[in-house]
Amino acid sequence: MNKPEFKNIKHPDKGELIIYEGDKIVVGNNPIVPFIEGDGIGSDIWPATKLVIDSAVEKAYQGKKKIEWLEIYAGEKASNLVGEWLPEDTTEAIKFFKVAIKGPLTTPVGGGIRSLNVSLRQILDLYACVRPVKYVKGAPSPVKNPEWLDVVIFRENTEDVYAGIEYEMNSEKVKKVLKFLGEEMNANIRQDSGIGIKPISKFASERIIRKAIQYAIENNRNSVTMVHKGNIMKFTEGAFRKWGYELAEKEFKDIIISEKDLWEKFEGKQPEGKIILKDRIADAMFMNILKRTKEYGVIVTTNLNGDYLSDACAAQIGGLGLAPGANLSDTIALFEATHGTAPKYTGMDKVNPSSLLLSGIMMLEHLGWKEAARMIFNALETTVVSKIVTYDLETEGATIVKCSEFAQEIVRNL
Ligand code: NAD
Repeated sequence: MNKPEFKNIKHPDKGELIIYEGDKIVVGNNPIVPFIEGDGIGSDIWPATKLVIDSAVEKAYQGKKKIEWLEIYAGEKASNLVGEWLPEDTTEAIKFFKVAIKGPLTTPVGGGIRSLNVSLRQILDLYACVRPVKYVKGAPSPVKNPEWLDVVIFRENTEDVYAGIEYEMNSEKVKKVLKFLGEEMNANIRQDSGIGIKPISKFASERIIRKAIQYAIENNRNSVTMVHKGNIMKFTEGAFRKWGYELAEKEFKDIIISEKDLWEKFEGKQPEGKIILKDRIADAMFMNILKRTKEYGVIVTTNLNGDYLSDACAAQIGGLGLAPGANLSDTIALFEATHGTAPKYTGMDKVNPSSLLLSGIMMLEHLGWKEAARMIFNALETTVVSKIVTYDLETEGATIVKCSEFAQEIVRNL
């Protein structure tokens, strides 16, 4: 890819470009990584996160590795600086540098501006929303055994009712759709309806399921569960499931077994090196994840199911503040805090930086810097176990510290 001409970002004079050789990421000792600070509490959690990441990298590799951060702009900061909420420089930089991390962004109310997060996903074709949900010891949780949950959710990002194909009640467009459905498709729909379209394609289903299976293989996970509502929506959700099993048969025959195989061929004992591909209907999955938590590892699902399930799982380990996320294409990875801008806490140095920090851990793993990633997770856990926490993690006897102090404490525990 040619070096893009930026209008408002300066190409860094230090650092190395992350590249791909085939489908393998190649990362030098000083990769350039763009960051978007984010709106609202972004200016609190980003400096805290950066401090911990830089300190862990320095310590893990004795100064031999270092990230060269490059600030890029989106949201209010971009709007104030260059008069645009999502400048082209920003999307071009993420494409060019391939790995980036971002704080939360405000969705401007009114003015016809779409969610910046949705725009970023669409412009960059970040088709997989990946949310690992794993318990941090010591964090207050509403369940008895939060440590049983250790899942990685792959949520399809580009279609389903979420793709935004919607027609408002009484609009010219909805009238056309209703007329077509009534006259040509014999579908009896109330005339005072709004209509949303739910496309689920074979292409998009296959690529997200493939990504989830590949992740399970690379990370020694023993199961992949497809979550769908195919009993009701047969040609969308049901097809997602069907295409998943067909894909596994076609591309992963040596490694994937079905639950049926498990019982019929292996007497219920999972053979070494095999991954079980299961499927669960979404409503049952919400119950199972609470009652049979340990049976799930990698989960792959359509957009809306994934939206609900990600937050429900996050609640099980203590809330969104402890849930990281990434949006991925085959060559671009954008790591992000999963919560919003929490405007009422902006600039108070109060909120918990863990969601962004855990996303930073995912980013380090993606770069192959696993030692630094592990070090941060352990130090975060030590800090929470020692009951030095931000306000949202308060338990009996805890010392409540500021966002920046929490980060400093994690650094001490590295
Ligand atoms: P929010 O996540 O910003 O805040 C909801 C509440 O969660 C806060 O009031 C606070 O009590 C708590 N909270 C959030 N982050 C926290 C943290 N790090 N530590 C401790 N507590 C935390 O959700 P919202 O109020 O619905 O949305 C506010 C804005 O954020 C909106 O403009 C919305 O569009 C945007 N948003 C952005 C993203 C994103 O960038 N990925 C995601 C969700 C919402």
